[in-house]
Amino acid sequence: MSGGRVIVVGSVNVDLVIRGERLPSPGETVAGGTFERHHGGKGGNQAVAAARLGRPVLFVGAVGDDAFGAEARSALAAEGVDVSSLATLEETSTGVALILVDERGDNLISVASGANAGLVPEVIGPALARIGIHEGDVVLVCRELPTATVRETLRLARAAGARTILNPAPADGIDRSVLGAADIITPNRGELLILAATEARRSGRASAGGIAAATDIPRAARALLDPSAEGGGVGEAVVVTLGAAGALIVTREATVDVPSIPVRAVDTTGAGDAFNGALAAALAEGLGLVDAVRLAVAAGALATTRVGAREGMPTRSELEAALGS
Ligand code: ADP
Repeated sequence: MSGGRVIVVGSVNVDLVIRGERLPSPGETVAGGTFERHHGGKGGNQAVAAARLGRPVLFVGAVGDDAFGAEARSALAAEGVDVSSLATLEETSTGVALILVDERGDNLISVASGANAGLVPEVIGPALARIGIHEGDVVLVCRELPTATVRETLRLARAAGARTILNPAPADGIDRSVLGAADIITPNRGELLILAATEARRSGRASAGGIAAATDIPRAARALLDPSAEGGGVGEAVVVTLGAAGALIVTREATVDVPSIPVRAVDTTGAGDAFNGALAAALAEGLGLVDAVRLAVAAGALATTRVGAREGMPTRSELEAALGS
């Protein structure tokens, strides 16, 4: 198979969901709900999204030495993801998200990072060396990991010649030492706002950047490409995802609007993960940035047509059918 591989460095969680009539208040018990368990974590979901498009995908992450960890590993392997760099940390629990959802779809979520927090920067070098990163590979990094690990991953992956994508979700705590090591970042509108506000605060420009992001997305994105007193900017592009409106690609040279495909959305959880996994897969395959974003936008759209984050990731044939190719 020609083209490069996708290496996802990210989080793995087990999502424990109770759907009930309403959300409990502190101290209250609401009975009568129904229970579901899903495989989750942005990293795991993004790896599955990329694997369903037929690219070789390797996953670097950590689970605990419990039953959830073993199941999370098998679930990724069953999707064809190479889990030989997924560590099992002793006396640690696998990441868990406790999710309560009411009849209207509102939710309360509490996350115990568990093994994800144990993915320290020191393990990244040996893991990437074992994988043997090279030019043509795409390394996709999500948050939900220690920031130092995110930084170290981007730095080492780029030094080895790979293209680096950072999905800044959540966007807090990201500074120039992280942004400057990423070739592409993929914030949604809210995350761009946080990145712009953080920049403005650090440079003493109050919240001007935040206001700019709310009103002028290309300008806010371009500011992240420019170097600042604190370091270099994003290397190649800021790709802002805009829900039903698709995505905007902002580079130093141009701004390109990529509309989404019309769909009947029933569950938008996982749309961003589908987008990121597909973007990484398309770039590893050798597509140009605009064509890769076009594919990613369609993958995000299709993911909203099914319930569940990871379960809803489209396959290559579904994507080709939707794009008429
Ligand atoms: P996140 O889930 O991270 O907030 P978005 O909501 O921007 O990210 O969704 C990511 C991508 O999924 C969008 O760029 C778009 O392509 C697609 N998408 C999301 N919601 C819809 C929708 N309602 N209709 C069509 N496409 C959608």
